[in-house]
Amino acid sequence: MTAAGATPRAPARYRGRFAPSPTGPLHFGSLVAALASYADARAAGGEWLVRVEDVDVPRARPGAADAILRDLERLGFEWNGPVWRQSQRMAFYEQALDVLRARDLVYRCACTRAERAGDPVGRVGERIYPGICRNGVRSEHAARRRLAMRVRTPPAAIAFTDRHYGHQQQLLAQDVGDFVVRRSDGLAAYQLAVVVDDAAQGITDVVRGADLLASTPRQLFLQQALALPTPRYLHVPIAIDAHGHKLSKQQGAPPLPVSPLPLLLAAWRFLEQPLPVDMPESVAQFWSWASSHWHPARLPPVLLLPAPAAYNSV
Ligand code: GLU
Repeated sequence: MTAAGATPRAPARYRGRFAPSPTGPLHFGSLVAALASYADARAAGGEWLVRVEDVDVPRARPGAADAILRDLERLGFEWNGPVWRQSQRMAFYEQALDVLRARDLVYRCACTRAERAGDPVGRVGERIYPGICRNGVRSEHAARRRLAMRVRTPPAAIAFTDRHYGHQQQLLAQDVGDFVVRRSDGLAAYQLAVVVDDAAQGITDVVRGADLLASTPRQLFLQQALALPTPRYLHVPIAIDAHGHKLSKQQGAPPLPVSPLPLLLAAWRFLEQPLPVDMPESVAQFWSWASSHWHPARLPPVLLLPAPAAYNSV
């Protein structure tokens, strides 16, 4: 077993995934991410997995994961293998932390969120931690029991080529700063869990919303630090509501209507994908068309796009 929790595989054929956080039911924005990643996987003749990202246990809503899976099913998504749940994989995140610790890449941090609320916000919208605990927790804070763990970010640039947005580069130390990999409540941070699981599941292609574009260099850095492979990345525009906010389960984006076909077509149109002359009459027909007409090159060249009116207000 490796720290990622799986035996290393030979370079595999395409394997994608959809990784919803179960903080509420599927909404138009998350449907767009699911549709893009499923269409990309099917167009490549690859596999597609679903992983429930309930690593943030306090934020997971009871019943939300099952509701999301039921929605995916009625929308005709078919996934390979069992659905993974991050809440059952904590031991693997701890193993990854051990690797980072052995490489002296992490340190304990006693700062509280309130203490850090005034830190400057960097280029990618994150508060930049000024490294207070980098050389050890201050003696007056040593008695604090709830310590987080941060990773030491390098001064070097981390770059990658997104399949849609092209060349991306961040100076992690400057743009993001040392970031949390284990929270003060003991739970693994999203950035760590996603890296461990993408590797453990042999994911070759991550397709997801552009809100995570700025997280990708952090994930590349952790992949390198843990000697894990880096998948290809394709980010797609995210849906915003009439006020310009990202549709999100927490903001109360409306749950999806019952009829699946118009919904799939709305998400497909949102991504400016070509429509057939004869409209599909069933979900199965839609997917068979979508699988052979998925053109990432036609994705709109923006980060944010207004959702169709029917899906963007409560
Ligand atoms: N769990 C994340 C979300 O629901 C997605 C993570 C990912 O695709 O890497 O926003």
